[in-house]
Amino acid sequence: MSGNDQDLLAGLEAMADATLRKRLELMLAARGAFDQELTACETLDDCQRLKGKYVGRDGSLASEAMPAMRGIPVAHKQTLGAEINSIKKTWEEKIKARQIELEAARKKHTSLTDQWDPTLTPPVPARGALHPLNRLMDRLVEVFRPLGFHVEEGPEVETEAHNFDGLNIPEDHSARASSDTFYLAAHPELLLRTHTSPVQVSTLRRVAHDLAARGGIRFLAPGRVYRKDEIDPTHSPMFHQVEGMLVGHGIGMQHLKGTLEYALRALFGPHTEIRLRPSYFPFVEPGCEVDVSCPLCAAKGCRVCKGSGWVEILGAGLIHPNVLKYAGIDPGEWSGWAFGMGVERMAMMLSQTPDLRLFFENDQRFLKAMGGLD
Ligand SMILES: [Zn+2]
Repeated sequence: MSGNDQDLLAGLEAMADATLRKRLELMLAARGAFDQELTACETLDDCQRLKGKYVGRDGSLASEAMPAMRGIPVAHKQTLGAEINSIKKTWEEKIKARQIELEAARKKHTSLTDQWDPTLTPPVPARGALHPLNRLMDRLVEVFRPLGFHVEEGPEVETEAHNFDGLNIPEDHSARASSDTFYLAAHPELLLRTHTSPVQVSTLRRVAHDLAARGGIRFLAPGRVYRKDEIDPTHSPMFHQVEGMLVGHGIGMQHLKGTLEYALRALFGPHTEIRLRPSYFPFVEPGCEVDVSCPLCAAKGCRVCKGSGWVEILGAGLIHPNVLKYAGIDPGEWSGWAFGMGVERMAMMLSQTPDLRLFFENDQRFLKAMGGLD
């Protein structure tokens, strides 16, 4: 018998109440049995039963012994009382540790076998969707399709000839400067197209020989364009345009206005009004800026239209005779119109997005919110 056990025994003997003493004796005596039973625990249920027997809230050895400690004389509280508390704590910790051990073993065992249920529906991967800018361009194409317009595309790397010469842009025009345009270092005659208009040049040249047989041509050219712009909330070195062009016999401003009125009403609603303001672009004559009555405030005046009720939406005009000539088309016989619009600008207005960069950052929260764009 160790010194400690002698102290405990002395404490027990000093207790006046035999019933209370018996409860403490039982707890002290169970120490060996507990360790054996713990080792024998094979399942979490076994642990639960052990817990109920030794340290459970009701009817366990510990729950009986705790209140019995009030019968320990003051002189023995330090030894006997502390020992009873320590046994209880040890039992609780050992049971907990065994439970964790068994739980880990169970998980390891079941992860590849019992938990696999071949009848469960497989996880559905997140579905991709078209980018809001692509959807807006598609929508523009759909508006023009019933009018007989098809889609023409061109390369994003273009020649100076297609990007500038063929569009009647003079040699000294500021857009040709390397400060405005990305030229290819290894091929200075090549550049990243600064607008979708080179598609006009390549398409007209391609169809010039059988334009009469075709009865003219009408097409849209949506795509990416590049300019050496600062990156700020309303500018980006890469953005999107949609170009529209029609060539036929006796085409004038009235046809341009009628077509744009139809298209912009299809886009912004049947009550949309448009207005043309004279403007200058080298590839059209006459040229104009086209405004729509603000679709956000029904032209009453808001932040987007800066109180004016009108929003500038695109540039347009009648095709300059030099553009037709360059493509090999006789401007005495043929005429036409063209327009170009900025896709981001329209998307920002429709969605009231203040910062252009959001369209290129691919933050899914933004893209999902843009689901309402069309
Ligand atoms: Zn407005």
